[in-house]
Amino acid sequence: MAQELAGKVAIITGGAGGIGRATVELFVAEGARVLIADRDGTAGTALAAALGPAALFMAVDVADRAQVQAMVARAVDAFGGLHILFNNAGISCAPFPHFLDDSLADFDRVMAVNLLGPMLGTQAAARHMKDHGGGVILNNASIAGLLAGQAMMSYRASKAGLIQFSKSVAIDLAQHGIRVNCLVPGHIRTSLSSFSAQGAEADRAARVDAAIDAVYLSNQPLKRRGVPDDVAQAALFLASDRARQITGIAMPVEGGVVAGDPVNHLEDILTARAQALLD
Ligand code: NAD
Repeated sequence: MAQELAGKVAIITGGAGGIGRATVELFVAEGARVLIADRDGTAGTALAAALGPAALFMAVDVADRAQVQAMVARAVDAFGGLHILFNNAGISCAPFPHFLDDSLADFDRVMAVNLLGPMLGTQAAARHMKDHGGGVILNNASIAGLLAGQAMMSYRASKAGLIQFSKSVAIDLAQHGIRVNCLVPGHIRTSLSSFSAQGAEADRAARVDAAIDAVYLSNQPLKRRGVPDDVAQAALFLASDRARQITGIAMPVEGGVVAGDPVNHLEDILTARAQALLD
């Protein structure tokens, strides 16, 4: 390993599971010391114990201003500084297939965790970073915030808001030497995106996961299933000095979905025309 983050201190919210966990593991392998901030104490404590003195767990709800301020203070206190904040923690919303069936009952919580949380974290971290040589802030959005689509409106709105916040605050914080960028993952199988396989016996769960993956892959030019480490690798790049001239971007990590539709419509049109001429 190149130890790209040697000497750096990072906070990763939602670091106990999924994409956050993969990023914690990669950042520690790259020489960073990492505060894992998560509401899941069991998984967070176990991960920190497995990674040794370079990792520390703190129970945090990112939607709580006082807890977020204490999180930044804890990282600075324990590790002597703060160079990187990855606002990764996020929640999904109830998967109503159509808006007219959506009670919007979870709107406030989705917005609090997915949008207010990163705003609180960015503000608390940047207030430290501006007086200590700058830093890097990463926000984890989603293609659901970039591309319009049906269903999960609260989630989509929260992630679209996060992308716009991220770009805007990048402009505001540039004067302090703070870079802010956004990651825009496509489908990554984690507990957040798993629809129904949990609790099923192993072979049935695998079949359900494969069937759901096939739906996502049909819309994805690269026919490879995304994994948490894909996003962690992009986060490493954006957090590192290799990205020193990059701020205010929303980087898709999604196998080409944002680039466009993988269906060859011309082929379909020519086939339909040929068929119609025959009829
Ligand atoms: P996950 O559920 O596997 O992990 C999320 C972690 O965040 C968990 O450890 C959870 O305990 C923690 N968390 C949730 N609410 C929290 C809160 N209020 N305070 C602190 N910690 C909290 O999910 P994931 O798939 O790894 O998602 C991580 C981020 O990536 C989210 O912001 C999600 O929206 C985004 N994302 C995921 C996908 C995907 O397909 N998995 C796609 C696009 C974007």
